Amino acid sequence: MSQGTLEQLRGKLDVINMQLLELLSERAAIAQQIGHEKEKQGVPKFDPVREQRMLEELAARNSGPFDDNTIRQLFKQIFQASLNLQQTDVKKQLLVSRKRQKEDTVVQLGEASVGGGKPMMVAGPCSVESYEQVRQVAAALKQAGVTVMRGGAFKPRTSPYDFQGLGIEGLKILKEVADEFGLKTISEIVDPAHIELACDYIDVIQIGARNMQNFELLKAAGDVRTPILLKRGLAATIDEFLHAAEYIVSRGNTQVMLIERGIRTYEKATRNTLDISAVPILKQESHLPVLVDVTHSTGRKDILAPCAKAALAAGADGIMVEVHPNPAVALSDAAQQLNIEEFNRFYNEVQQSGLFHSLSV
Ligand code: PEP
Ligand code: MN
Repeated sequence: MSQGTLEQLRGKLDVINMQLLELLSERAAIAQQIGHEKEKQGVPKFDPVREQRMLEELAARNSGPFDDNTIRQLFKQIFQASLNLQQTDVKKQLLVSRKRQKEDTVVQLGEASVGGGKPMMVAGPCSVESYEQVRQVAAALKQAGVTVMRGGAFKPRTSPYDFQGLGIEGLKILKEVADEFGLKTISEIVDPAHIELACDYIDVIQIGARNMQNFELLKAAGDVRTPILLKRGLAATIDEFLHAAEYIVSRGNTQVMLIERGIRTYEKATRNTLDISAVPILKQESHLPVLVDVTHSTGRKDILAPCAKAALAAGADGIMVEVHPNPAVALSDAAQQLNIEEFNRFYNEVQQSGLFHSLSV
């Protein structure tokens, strides 16, 4: 073959490449339109029956020189690329997505800016048990320089015979103590009917792991303007977690914080499996602040500090830990709560790692 012929044939291929590119782009734009239409109709993006039929039609019409399997493989790649395009298109539309909002959402809780680049600590008892119990924790937190206190008043317990929390009375105790010490408070709400009322007593409404997909609760949380701390469900994927947050943000409450609290796996050495990889993934995928609950994820006091450091190294905006003045007699999670001395040691160790910048300094 002469040099001239080779150049001529290559020239033809270049033209065909451009034509293929144009056709592929035209096809992709139509696939996108189909994706939007399917989204509106609530129909799944992937239709294996139609895909199989298209592949068989193409193979039947194939007259070579590619064999039928090669044709199937080539078109399968095109179909997959179109499907990926439809799926990223939908993700792009989520309000919680980094693609929709580049800048980090920052939730202001008094002097703590959650998501503002300076990690913060949330600590407090698993359950609000009494005024005196909460007061002892609050005094210790104040002294340590921690400004946000947690405490459950509505407790979603596995057994109906276990302590269920003090309810509204517990929220009142939190408020009284928080006002006295100038702290901000976080407490779980389990009933949509309590969301509005809760805003009068607490600064952040927690939606617990067991309620991450309680859609009526999420909607009610979206209708108020109090910040929400949304916990990852016991067996929720990251995608489900982000869609749960979307329920809240889509109703106008943009003040949402995500918290990884461990997921259920076969591993028995910890209460749950702390999914550290969720932290950088959530930070990449979403602009919402991301915290890590080291207590419920591990259920073990002996590894709280290294897990908190790992969470901060992975980019977490905050750490949550349970503290009780006398964990041995706690009405819930007795085995996993730190006493005040243990908390101070834990907090110092995390601060000394250099990964954590105390808000008090
Ligand atoms: C809690 O934080 O009090 C709690 C019950 O945690 P989770 O919902 O993550 O189990
Ligand atoms: Mn607990």
